[in-house]
Amino acid sequence: MKKIYMLAFLVLIIFWGCKEDKNTDYILSKDHHSYANFNDVRVNHLSLDLTVDFNQQILKGKVDLTLDHFTDATVLILDTRKLVINKVLADGKETSFSLGEEHTIFGQPLSITISKSTQVVSIYYATSPDADALQWLTPEQTLGKKHPFLFSQSQAILARTWIPCQDGPGVKFTYDATIKTDPHLMALMSATNGTQKQSDGIYKFTMKQPISSYLLALTVGDLSFASTGRNSGVYAEPAMLEKSVWELNTMQSMIDSAEQLYGPYAWERYDVVVLPPSFPFGGMENPRLTFATPTIIAGDRSLVALIAHELAHSWSGNLVTNETWNDFWLNEGFTVYFEQRIMEKIFGKPYEEMLTKLGMGELKATLQELEEEGKLADTHLYLDLDGRDPDDGLTDVAYEKGRFFLQKVESVVGRNRFDVFLKKYFEEFRFKTMNTERFVTYLKTHLLTSKEAADIHIQAWVYGPGLPDNALIPYSQELDRVEEAIAGFNNNQLAASEMNTTGYTTHHWLYFLRGLKNLDSTKMADLDEVYHFTETGNSEVACDWYKHCIEQNYTPGFPAMREFLIRVGRRKFLTPLYTRLAKEPVHKAWAKEVYSVAKKGYHSVSYNTIDQILN
Ligand SMILES: [Zn+2]
Repeated sequence: MKKIYMLAFLVLIIFWGCKEDKNTDYILSKDHHSYANFNDVRVNHLSLDLTVDFNQQILKGKVDLTLDHFTDATVLILDTRKLVINKVLADGKETSFSLGEEHTIFGQPLSITISKSTQVVSIYYATSPDADALQWLTPEQTLGKKHPFLFSQSQAILARTWIPCQDGPGVKFTYDATIKTDPHLMALMSATNGTQKQSDGIYKFTMKQPISSYLLALTVGDLSFASTGRNSGVYAEPAMLEKSVWELNTMQSMIDSAEQLYGPYAWERYDVVVLPPSFPFGGMENPRLTFATPTIIAGDRSLVALIAHELAHSWSGNLVTNETWNDFWLNEGFTVYFEQRIMEKIFGKPYEEMLTKLGMGELKATLQELEEEGKLADTHLYLDLDGRDPDDGLTDVAYEKGRFFLQKVESVVGRNRFDVFLKKYFEEFRFKTMNTERFVTYLKTHLLTSKEAADIHIQAWVYGPGLPDNALIPYSQELDRVEEAIAGFNNNQLAASEMNTTGYTTHHWLYFLRGLKNLDSTKMADLDEVYHFTETGNSEVACDWYKHCIEQNYTPGFPAMREFLIRVGRRKFLTPLYTRLAKEPVHKAWAKEVYSVAKKGYHSVSYNTIDQILN
């Protein structure tokens, strides 16, 4: 052991001794998806100055990184991928740097020579046109058809494709940015945003609360703004704005309900930007500004649980953050649990029960798939994603098994005690990170008696496969009444027109479609004639219907499905459809033809998955 390390070790022990709860601020778990040496030197502020070049489809400019030193390290290692690094300065003086070997998923480490007194490193760089985080849309791919559009998606490890940074969720920093673009366009970030276009095309942003790199976000397009309440609003393309505001009219009450549950909202404003349909996710919880798919704008407000979900991330995820991607369930399981609580508060218990029961159905289907593929370890809450793309962990397990685990805890201790615990948890670890092991210890120390801990079977839930036997069985009177229609139709006792579907909402229909068995083309045609599923404008219903179309080779559904696959880039819909299509050679050939047209409209997050399915 070198002297300097011994000294550092002693200082550390004293530091730990004095401020036991602060040691997590210093030593972070090893992050297998980042090259960064953040336990030596850590970025505490990032300052961006970028120009958006739609012609070349690149961002170019510089980033200044302000550093905290924990050791005497003379190198700062950052994550990069497909970036062109032109020049690097340390406190204003040019310094040497090198890019390491390129890994297809993790990119290249950028090693920069620094001294222990270096305060700011400045990197002059440009992105490449195929930066995985960025999707550049042509005017034809937007609703307005007049202007190009850009959006980013940094989660999980794509921030490094547009900013050289310490790209692991454990590292938190504040940021500011200057973005220069065409004056016809508005730029927005996960930061303070204006509501008007700037005549010079220069936009300034600040984010004074510390965030992780996966929450860095930028979108540029022909956008306009409308308020939805005291501290909430919506941005969208002008032709989409009015519809979006109507659909999302519960946003302000969602914020108020969430604050009542788990304490003050830490980010001041909560706005949503409704993006073009190629956005690969339902939503992305970029702080202050959720990025959302237009597929939630269903025209009947039936899919707004997604906004409750993204809002809930303002506590679980953005405030208390999973330390590595192996701890992803701490972000998502909590968020689904929290989402369900917000929905219950606003829309009532029967509505929440439907969502929960549908969630269990989705979880069981995912568990079965993973088990059939022999991926048992991926059914654990605590994942082992080392050496793999962390996107692999983005399954219903983190979301739904995580939620049902927390619901189990709630059922054992009672809602009042659990709420007090959660409020304290979010308060105590705000702007910090959490890992699975520390959470389990915290749960046992601050909430559970040893008998309660034993009743819950924490080990089986967190570190074991599948769904433990003691999981709650969701009950929904609303969905139970759909059972009769399902049974009658499955057993050929009821024709489509004879079912009592009075009062069915999107959720009833989803449950109905997922319960269908013994279908054939005739029964498909019967359903379609009565309920017009092929023409539905509801993307969730459409996806479940098209699954049946593929399995039953119901060809009247294929033209609409083709249009859907070309228009919508949301991976949640694309994956199950392409997976089913790939099973039969004739369907696979059809899928490849559709994909050859559709791919240019998909974000990398989506087309990387579909490439694998159709290889
Ligand atoms: Zn989420």
